[in-house]
Amino acid sequence: MLREYGLYIDGQWRAARGGETFPVHNPATGEVVGQVADARAEDALDAVEAATRAFPEWASRPAKERSEILRRAYDLMVAHRDELAEIMTREQGKPLEEARGEVQYAADFILWYSEEAKRVYGEAIPASHADKRLLALRQPVGVVAAITPWNFPAAMITRKIGPALAAGCTVIVKPAEQTPLTACRLVDLFEEAGLPAGVLNLVATTQPQAVGDALLADARVRKLTFTGSTEVGKILMRKAADTVKRISLELGGHAPFLVFEDADIERAAREVAASKFRNAGQTCVCTNRVYVHESIADTFTAALADVVRGLKMGNGLEPGVQIGPLIDGAAAEKVDRHVQDAVDKGATLVLGGRRHSDVDRGVHFFEPTILANVQDDSVILHEETFGPVVPVQVFRTEEEAVAKANGTPYGLAAYLYTRDLSRAIRVSEQLEYGIVGVNDGLPSVAQAPFGGVKESGLGREGGKYGIEEYLEVKYVSIRL
Ligand code: NAP
Repeated sequence: MLREYGLYIDGQWRAARGGETFPVHNPATGEVVGQVADARAEDALDAVEAATRAFPEWASRPAKERSEILRRAYDLMVAHRDELAEIMTREQGKPLEEARGEVQYAADFILWYSEEAKRVYGEAIPASHADKRLLALRQPVGVVAAITPWNFPAAMITRKIGPALAAGCTVIVKPAEQTPLTACRLVDLFEEAGLPAGVLNLVATTQPQAVGDALLADARVRKLTFTGSTEVGKILMRKAADTVKRISLELGGHAPFLVFEDADIERAAREVAASKFRNAGQTCVCTNRVYVHESIADTFTAALADVVRGLKMGNGLEPGVQIGPLIDGAAAEKVDRHVQDAVDKGATLVLGGRRHSDVDRGVHFFEPTILANVQDDSVILHEETFGPVVPVQVFRTEEEAVAKANGTPYGLAAYLYTRDLSRAIRVSEQLEYGIVGVNDGLPSVAQAPFGGVKESGLGREGGKYGIEEYLEVKYVSIRL
């Protein structure tokens, strides 16, 4: 079924001003699954205009009303879970069961922030003078530009629009060019939930820089929230400086997974596989490197191979498939390069290692792969792989493990497996990461803070922290 969408601006689906559209492909088959209007800078400015006009009314609505609309949007997302999941699998490739999980995870942010909308409290501050009263008010930042990646086509959007809309901001979403259909269907559901015109706008485009520049240069846009690569995040951060916008950046990761000698080896192996092979390794919190104590390295690697050998690769719409395609040829080339480089430098290929590409159809799979004995200077230990490959290295001491884990400019998620409580606390505190999973390879939930340190980003999404990113504090001093 071919889905067709326009741009969503000021409560209307409409064509791009230039009339252009672009096709969306299924990465598992190469077939065209949708056609979407292709925005240019002038369309982005129309969206800014609409969001600016809608802001005062939306910001001044009672929080309870904003909350009720978000709650209806949550109910609609859950009611349409299977439909949204199927759209997502067709445009992004992840297995259908995982897509259903993402839709529920994405909806959970809307539910959480429908509740938080009602709890944006201010403060009364004790004054220094008897005739003064001091207040701290919390008010919405204003118009928000949200730029999102393809790997989580629903959740990366709801993690932003949930708190933004709850706080009273209006939003322009620019979804990834490879996965705009899930975003468009989500916007449909928010419209059905009763969101007023101009509060949420969507501009899909094949010209991300032109559209991004228009949004960033416009002083009416008061905040940029971006999820994507560190490389693009740095560019946007520089551009946002010209109008001193508030910024939140959720960027790349290079998650280490430490397996200590006292770990439950079978469980650790299952958890590494769950953390690594979800979405064919294309997640920012995916395990990118495993460090295992030398005394259990062989047993652990064998246990991991037993789990991974059973994973089924294929079209995510087929039952039982656990590893879908990579998003495109560039992604497959990168994974291939990381594996070849590691092997050339002396790593042992324990499992997998081959790419299956049909270049004519633009379809690229990569076998779930395990590499052992990976050398320190291997690219895979330093660059984000974004594919289904686990490099395993040994360590001898806890200090060495922590030093290896921290030896990267990234700081998003890290994992450790141990049964020693003191070590779990000590190592969690020493890891320079925004998220630490202790005996837990899948820590993300809507009510917890998600985000990175170092070059993995700025700010937090989720939980009570997420809404702060969309609020300004205003100090009011009153003389009686
Ligand atoms: P990307 O290339 O940085 O793209 C992200 C978004 O930015 C897309 O919508 C893209 O548009 C847009 N974009 C690209 N260049 C731009 C420019 N010059 N101006 C304005 N917008 C621009 O990242 P990706 O490949 O889609 O996503 C993978 C990356 O995201 C990985 O590094 C991953 O770790 C990271 N990620 C981080 C988190 C987190 O929470 N920290 C979550 C998920 C993903 P196009 O689609 O048109 O290129």
